[in-house]
Amino acid sequence: MSRKSLKHNISKQNPVSAQWIGRFAPSPTGSLHMGSLAAAVASYMIAKKQQGKWLIRIEDIDKQREVIGSVDSILTDLESYGLFWDDEVFYQSKNEQWHQHVIEDIAKSGWLYACDCSRKDILERSEGVYDAKCRVSSNKVITSTEINSHCPDAAIKINFSHGHDHFEDQILNEQSFTSAMQKQDFILKRRDGIFAYQLAVVADDIHQNINHVVRGADILDSTPKQNFLYDILEKTKPSYYHIPLITDDKNLKLSKSINSPSLKQVEYLQDQKKVITKSEVLLKIFEHLGQKIESSLHSLKPREIIEYYIDNWDTKLIINS
Ligand SMILES: [Zn+2]
Repeated sequence: MSRKSLKHNISKQNPVSAQWIGRFAPSPTGSLHMGSLAAAVASYMIAKKQQGKWLIRIEDIDKQREVIGSVDSILTDLESYGLFWDDEVFYQSKNEQWHQHVIEDIAKSGWLYACDCSRKDILERSEGVYDAKCRVSSNKVITSTEINSHCPDAAIKINFSHGHDHFEDQILNEQSFTSAMQKQDFILKRRDGIFAYQLAVVADDIHQNINHVVRGADILDSTPKQNFLYDILEKTKPSYYHIPLITDDKNLKLSKSINSPSLKQVEYLQDQKKVITKSEVLLKIFEHLGQKIESSLHSLKPREIIEYYIDNWDTKLIINS
């Protein structure tokens, strides 16, 4: 499926900087919710403020989790909130050959191994923190040519014991990750043969030349792992901007959990009687992102609000929200 934004030509009004490429990368596991819309808005604003490109990547690699119709619903919602993307929508599931190439490249580090421990095993043995048993006991490295032929009922993990435990976030500043949970080895290819999140995200961001990653703070823990892969691949790491999560606020249940309401529910649920418009939803998100809300904005349509903030957005305000 290929779909271009209806307002694809908008970016042509401004010279698009080849240097700045951001993205929004939703999973098609349901409708957009407030948390994902906030990540979309922030990533759009930070890219457009620099006249950069804003790409959409659908992270549909795990077909079992995909909810039919959600890609269309997500894209329609983005357009209805005035967020128009550059280039064609990119589908992660179509990039598996590249994922394979990248994991073979990583395997040259000698840090990949097979792990057949179940979640239950790890829970019983070491309270859910992986103790690197398979790495230590078997001492068997998976080479580039063994990626597809290793023990079929095992995941491919990477030795993260020499990995990063900190990075500099553009919004949250210095971030450290020193707990055993944060420093454990992680999966690059699942036992069901599907490339794991950390591998696919890094491979796709490299493939799409993404150099600025804006996303929710729930992904913070993944960032040192992803940086580790960039280093092994000898690629330049993107700059990271992790935005604060949306939590319960003024009768609106806005959590990032799977029980979080879709935007359509939010639009109708507030105050039970009063219907909240898309413009009001958008202004709540800009408020959450620390931006100044002028009273005149309330009468604008979503795209007019977006255009106002392309001129008036200030990333530095996010930390104060
Ligand atoms: Zn294991």
